[in-house]
Amino acid sequence: MNRPARPGRFPLALDRLAGAGRPAATELLRPQRPLQHAAQHAAAQGQGAPQGLGLDSAAVRARMVARLRAEGIGCAPVLQAFALVERHRFVDSALANQAYEDTSLPIGLSQTISKPSVVARMLALLFEGESARAAGHLGRVLEIGTGCGYQAALLARLARSVLSIERLKPLHDKARQNLEGQRHGELRLVFGDGTLGHAPRAPYDSVVAAAGGDQLPAAWLEQLAVGGRLVAPVHDPARGGQVLLVVDRQPQGLVRRWHDAVHFVPLKSGTA
Ligand code: SAH
Repeated sequence: MNRPARPGRFPLALDRLAGAGRPAATELLRPQRPLQHAAQHAAAQGQGAPQGLGLDSAAVRARMVARLRAEGIGCAPVLQAFALVERHRFVDSALANQAYEDTSLPIGLSQTISKPSVVARMLALLFEGESARAAGHLGRVLEIGTGCGYQAALLARLARSVLSIERLKPLHDKARQNLEGQRHGELRLVFGDGTLGHAPRAPYDSVVAAAGGDQLPAAWLEQLAVGGRLVAPVHDPARGGQVLLVVDRQPQGLVRRWHDAVHFVPLKSGTA
């Protein structure tokens, strides 16, 4: 499917967080292309073969993707998204040369961009949810913790729509800048407290959090669609640390499974 790219236009919408009594700025980053298989998109962009030798090169991302595959990430759409999104554009230029290493990196305000292997694992887990398996994409996504916007950019290539919430205004603004001009599906950035989820656009087929608390906020589970899946780091007292928790909403109720030990920044309430 070849369509001429349209320039991004935003902000286009202002929403309010329902029940929060607080305005939440929402920018709708307009779709520049319909949901499309990442490989088709790469072909349309002439990115099928590695070009150049610098960080702009597809070759440097292809090496990262090969490492992810070797570590057991077998989800083709996720690997394709990693091949396309330029991680070095989301970090400080002084750190850009580390952007394709499997390492978390500071993004300011004591926050970090998670390491690629952890992001890939979470996205692959989302893809194994019932709705995602049936649809072949992540459907309507709620992301808590936009940070620099890197994971949001990946999600936008894997979903019908993405709503991403950040509680720190400078990071919300930075993500908006980083995502400007990027190719993406329907992507909304919300400045607000993600522990409340975002009721106006619920339910969500996929919910993913990039910050971990002692327990899952009730709103996330309430806003999860039947057939949907949530993946989030949560403190597990039994293991004495954070663990990835996967929750599926099945017609008969919620099913929880604990996965890998992880180390995410804390989930905090309110905005700053
Ligand atoms: N996915 C991000 C990772 C960001 S780190 C990326 O690709 O860059 C986690 C982020 O979660 C931080 O920016 C932090 O401010 C944010 N966060 C923590 N608690 C939050 C909350 N209650 N609501 C929204 N964002 C929150």
